Amino acid sequence: GETIGILGGGQLGRMIAMAAAQLGYRCHVYAPEADSIAADVCAAFTCAAWDDAEAMAKFAADCAVVTYEFENVPVGPLAALGDTPLLAHARALETAQDRLNEKRFVTDLGGTPAPFAPVDSAEDLAQAIAAIGAPGILKTRRDGYDGKGQWRIMTPADAAALDLPATPLIYEGFVTFFAEFSVILCRGADGEVRFFDSAHNVHEGGILALSTVPAPADLLEQVPAARELATKVADALDYVGVLTLEFFATKDGPVFNEMAPRVHNSGHWTIEGSVTSQFENHVRAICGLPLGDTGLAAKGVEMRNLIGDEAHDWPTILADPANHLHLYGKAAARPGRKMGHVTRLILS
Ligand code: ATP
Ligand code: MG
Ligand code: MG
Repeated sequence: GETIGILGGGQLGRMIAMAAAQLGYRCHVYAPEADSIAADVCAAFTCAAWDDAEAMAKFAADCAVVTYEFENVPVGPLAALGDTPLLAHARALETAQDRLNEKRFVTDLGGTPAPFAPVDSAEDLAQAIAAIGAPGILKTRRDGYDGKGQWRIMTPADAAALDLPATPLIYEGFVTFFAEFSVILCRGADGEVRFFDSAHNVHEGGILALSTVPAPADLLEQVPAARELATKVADALDYVGVLTLEFFATKDGPVFNEMAPRVHNSGHWTIEGSVTSQFENHVRAICGLPLGDTGLAAKGVEMRNLIGDEAHDWPTILADPANHLHLYGKAAARPGRKMGHVTRLILS
């Protein structure tokens, strides 16, 4: 089979590679870290800096198509991919890498994010709080994940006490939501769009802890409007592959939080819980194959992340036939690190 290039070496790349292998493809990972849990399951690994043009060109020459599992890959160096197609396109990366761009882009398409303002100084922050109000959250515009690079601001005094990092920031009003959910879609090379069921997502300390499908009725009411926005985003970017949008469900309807131009943690339940997983559909899309059925393969599904070094009773988890254990093969458990997940199928 042909070779798929994967930029980034984490668990999302590992799960893309496992789905690709099932379809007869070989994968080649490109990542700057020497230890890669994606490379562990791939035929080839290039360990090089993102801006190593020679290594990037050599990698591209080995690949029929290149995709990414990490949305913060710097876009400039990707010119070295030359004629090898990058899917989704670099424009999706550029849009999603900067929270300010992302929110403006989605607002232009008719979406509703929390009120926001760019912040580059203490003065900007005071003005943003005066305009938007507190509480709110100050976030780095770039590079944040799992709630890193975020500061909760309850009062203007909190803001005055902050030592602002020397990086572009954004202040957002705090959204009063009754639940969080995500829209995960797959768009084929021909523009066909298929949606996975929207999971109800529960975060703990800014990290996804639990995704449940089907979501409760009051949340499901908000899914059609959220899907309409997600389709507009995918079409506007001429997107190919899996795309995720995160939302807050509020009494006034869905509020856009952020997008991820890739497969997503809140879609891990699709490996066993959907007829075709998000990973397989991503591979199908970028390889120009017909998309698979995104319907449910069970009555319900629950996906729980295994985070940090908390102790688990493996024999009990494994003894229950409803459970599917996934471990990512990470050597060291650090606080907040995603080590694996357990998917529980509700069959009757
Ligand atoms: P991810 O790992 O999903 O990429 P991230 O670091 O980009 O995370 P966000 O999605 O911006 O972080 O925020 C993490 C969580 O913090 C959200 O899922 C939500 O629970 C909470 N949160 C973020 N922004 C807001 C907001 N404006 N109002 C209320 N809660 C928020
Ligand atoms: Mg994010
Ligand atoms: Mg998020």
